[in-house]
Amino acid sequence: KNLKKYFPVKGGVLNRKMTDVKAVDDVSFAIHSGETLSIVGESGCGKSTTGRAILRLEEPTDGEIYFDGEDFRKLSKSQLRKRRKDIQIIFQDPYASLNPRQKVKQILDEAMAIQGVVPKKDRPARIRELMEVVGLRPQQAERYPHEFSGGQRQRIGIARALSVDPKLIVCDEAVSALDVSTQAQVLNLLKDLQRKFDLTFLFISHDLGVVRHISDRVVVMYLGKIVEIADKKSLFDSPHHPYTRALLSAIPVPDPERKTERIVLEGDVPSPMNPPSGCRFHTRCPFATEICKQEEPELRTAGDMVDGHQAACHHMEEIVEQYGKTPSVQE
Ligand code: SF4
Ligand code: MG
Repeated sequence: KNLKKYFPVKGGVLNRKMTDVKAVDDVSFAIHSGETLSIVGESGCGKSTTGRAILRLEEPTDGEIYFDGEDFRKLSKSQLRKRRKDIQIIFQDPYASLNPRQKVKQILDEAMAIQGVVPKKDRPARIRELMEVVGLRPQQAERYPHEFSGGQRQRIGIARALSVDPKLIVCDEAVSALDVSTQAQVLNLLKDLQRKFDLTFLFISHDLGVVRHISDRVVVMYLGKIVEIADKKSLFDSPHHPYTRALLSAIPVPDPERKTERIVLEGDVPSPMNPPSGCRFHTRCPFATEICKQEEPELRTAGDMVDGHQAACHHMEEIVEQYGKTPSVQE
């Protein structure tokens, strides 16, 4: 709720004053138990920082975080350590987070030992079970991380996260480094595990194709702000924010016979150190007018949106009216 994460930095070569990079700037959303909520956006939009702030791997600058009704920011370091078992994180590069000098069984054993969740005598059996659950052979626990492929290493990362029996798993670009067919396998595994173990996922990705596959609901971020939030179907069938429409129109369309509007974004993402006034997207938005430069649009529900769908754009009604609901071809 109203989550902010600012990083103080020196202003630049000539400017020695400190300024804040507003990586996450007043972001509010809820993740429902058992669902997959995705955060999508270009690099630098604040999606990873949001995920890390929720886990307090980055201490938020401001805002509130509730987990199962408990005020997460009020927990002491030692209380937080205990609660960490409920929230696990999986990273893009499992290799970087797996100790190369440890066998897989040691990696898994250590994770369980740190959280004190499984008594030592029961851990070998639990390790065998975890290996099977993520689609690896129990004997492979005797090997070292470098003996596995990228997809298998991600399975080990997932097994480690699962070992402490979490409720929420934050997946930060968890399949981004994998080739497309391995991606699909790991995404399917995550979905199976979600059903089996009642898991909730916060899925962070720059890739809308992946997000479409795995999500129940989607948050779109741009320069530290939420610009649109909706259940997956509404977002893909009826995107309202020009940024979302641009992202969707860039998804490759399998059928070349069907024409689509393609919105090409001008320029780069501006620096979050000095974000544009008003609507932060106005420097790249093909629909920007004077008001966009002056007034920051609030998240709101337009008349034709379903419940729970919100976007932050002054002109979304006119844009949808003029250009139709879908900028891209749907499945
Ligand atoms: Fe574009 Fe204006 Fe809407 Fe921002 S508020 S997305 S600049 S039309
Ligand atoms: Mg990131």
